[in-house]
Amino acid sequence: MRCPNCAKFTGLETEIGETNWDNSADDAGARLACAVTVNRNCADCGTTLKSAEFEMEEEWELPEGADPETVGLVEFDAEATESGGGRYAKNMIGCIAKVVIRWKNKAKPGKDGEPTKEEKINEDTITLHDELQASGFEEC
Ligand SMILES: [Zn+2]
Repeated sequence: MRCPNCAKFTGLETEIGETNWDNSADDAGARLACAVTVNRNCADCGTTLKSAEFEMEEEWELPEGADPETVGLVEFDAEATESGGGRYAKNMIGCIAKVVIRWKNKAKPGKDGEPTKEEKINEDTITLHDELQASGFEEC
């Protein structure tokens, strides 16, 4: 398409724009939600020409034996994805959002009835993915 800023017929580069994370953890587990804006920018001058917002959600259940007090959502990452675009596959553009969850298991009583000192940290990565046809992106 023609870029209104630099007036060139240009390719588009896909990048992650604004990302909003809205996550919470409680006794039952965690609720992961995010809204990610994916921008398609002029490859020449960087002006955003098209964009779309992806809203994704996932529930994470507290595993057996986990201590709800220790559940923490520690890492958030979003990256843009692109696939297809050839003659036989539709050009799909989207994003993958990753959330890393860490927790400890409930301390088990040791020999003398006292809880054992250090429980190991468990980790799980939740991946949310959504995509849209390139033609579904709105012009800015
Ligand atoms: Zn441009």
